[in-house]
Amino acid sequence: MTARILDGNKIRDQIFEELKDEVRVLTSAGIRPGLAAVLAGDNPASHLYVKSKIAACQQLGLSSGLITPSTDTSTLDMLRVVDDLNRDNDVDGILVQLPLPPQVDTKRILEAVDPAKDVDGFHPVSLGRLVSGRPGLVACTPAGCMEILRRGGITVEGANAVVLGRSDIVGKPMALLLMHSNATVTICHSKTRDLPAFVRRADIVVAAMGKAGFVEADWIRPGAAVIDVGTNKISDPPEAERLLRNFPERLEKFRAKGSVLVGDVHPDALNTAGALTPVPGGVGPMTITMLMSNTVKAARLRRAGGRPLANQSPAGVR
Ligand code: NAP
Repeated sequence: MTARILDGNKIRDQIFEELKDEVRVLTSAGIRPGLAAVLAGDNPASHLYVKSKIAACQQLGLSSGLITPSTDTSTLDMLRVVDDLNRDNDVDGILVQLPLPPQVDTKRILEAVDPAKDVDGFHPVSLGRLVSGRPGLVACTPAGCMEILRRGGITVEGANAVVLGRSDIVGKPMALLLMHSNATVTICHSKTRDLPAFVRRADIVVAAMGKAGFVEADWIRPGAAVIDVGTNKISDPPEAERLLRNFPERLEKFRAKGSVLVGDVHPDALNTAGALTPVPGGVGPMTITMLMSNTVKAARLRRAGGRPLANQSPAGVR
């Protein structure tokens, strides 16, 4: 059996087209959704992430702004920045790029964001809404995994779903979303005894551990759907050999480049799973996609009374 590939790039393109339509409708009603990014410090990866988020805004017709407090900014300065953005009616989404410089109290900053503009879904109010199954803004990566399942035609209702990892930004919200979609959910973590036994029972496996190729192919129940959130950069040749021995082209690329991105699930699961997200190109593209979707949703909820406007697309009514 060769698994059906759940292609995150294709799903991103689909959702982008739907969002473009919705942005057009909102803009013609005088509501142009806008995202403000706050980028403090000089972490090169953070700069890259923010750049691609702003590029996505431009592609979709959203307005975007970038505020760059200096590396030596203080918690109070950052609180003032967030407060200004909370008051700015043209800003629908506030993205505080993490990590913040060490002297800044990250928790205080994230909790200062108006929950109505919390497009990352990290605010305790957003989490509370998710727990109680109320509409709100949901963390982007797990929301993206749900879109993959939905658009990939995977039946969630009644399925046995196993989530590997219990972080606040992926594992926990993922488990809640699956439960609200009527899956029977098991959450596993580093203290779980006999992980393979849990995975073997799963119709849906969501792996979010940050451990390269940890989930062996023979743990996957034949035909199961695998959502691999893990994004691990490998540069150790024996490790690359262990993971990619059946993928000579990828191994060749690794040898040429010196590194390769792999998920938490061993790539050989391609031959046991029924459907799976590749790494890269599966869950990865969905995170920015759902940030855009959340920004449009925040604009609709805050400024358009939450009602779907005419011609609204399926992506917009979530
Ligand atoms: P995290 O905060 O480090 O959490 C990892 C979780 O995995 C923890 O709950 C941990 O358990 C569990 N875990 C670790 N080792 C385990 C083991 N041997 N068996 C079972 N569970 C184990 O990581 P995260 O932020 O959730 O991210 C997880 C992965 O997703 C990372 O590779 C990250 O790069 C990737 N990610 C990708 C995207 C994307 O856009 N594609 C977005 C976010 C994250 P304990 O709680 O017991 O420590």
